[in-house]
Amino acid sequence: MRKQIAAANWKMNLTYQEGEKLLNDILSAQILLEPHQLTIFAVPFPYLIMGNSAVSEEINNHIAAQNCYSKRGGAYTGEVSVEMLQSIGVEYCIVGHSERREYFGESNQMLADKVNLCLEYNITPIFCCGEPLPIREANKQNEYVATQLKESLFHLDEAQIQQVIIAYEPIWAIGTGVTASTAQAQEIHQYLRSVIASQYSADVADNISILYGGSVKAGNAAELFAAPDVDGGLVGGASLVADDFIKIIQALK
Ligand code: PEP
Repeated sequence: MRKQIAAANWKMNLTYQEGEKLLNDILSAQILLEPHQLTIFAVPFPYLIMGNSAVSEEINNHIAAQNCYSKRGGAYTGEVSVEMLQSIGVEYCIVGHSERREYFGESNQMLADKVNLCLEYNITPIFCCGEPLPIREANKQNEYVATQLKESLFHLDEAQIQQVIIAYEPIWAIGTGVTASTAQAQEIHQYLRSVIASQYSADVADNISILYGGSVKAGNAAELFAAPDVDGGLVGGASLVADDFIKIIQALK
């Protein structure tokens, strides 16, 4: 059974103390999760240790980094390597969020390098893809997103690609309050699964969790997650409010 995931992306928000309170408020709600359901909290680098100790007893709750560097190590001032993340017990890492692609010029090739390093160090990449508005308006989103997968993921072998979580996040829906309709999300998730099936196999495609991201809220999560190819969400704004994120976790199927 595919994992159903509610992943929080705090981005560059919250002080350490605010983050600690938020995590405690969410975890203390003690939401009963099925074995195939999990929550992931992508917190800022300096909070990873705090998060790890908070969730360490909770088998279905995990901490993620929001980024890592594409080189193994060395003279890259200010960057954080995958090995460093592994050394403090981080199990997941967001790779290729559209904000990193846009503001930090991350290319599909660079993201392929990051994915490779994550897999080498047993960290699950949460690989983000998604099209900007002009591409959606030209109805070219399928080709655009398929190219992102091909150039960053399709060098992986069958076992490796099944370690990856994919997050489809249309850029026009991120932080804008505009959510893709459930039909739009289902359509492109199904398409992405078919692209993976053609490259690998239907079984492989069926094992990969594909999350939707882009203005997921407490009020629309259940409908989005009910779509057969939507396996949960990557959530920015609504993950910063305990009650909202609790409802989003409860919407997992
Ligand atoms: C995100 O940060 O990945 C995201 C989807 O943000 P928001 O939920 O705020 O649109």
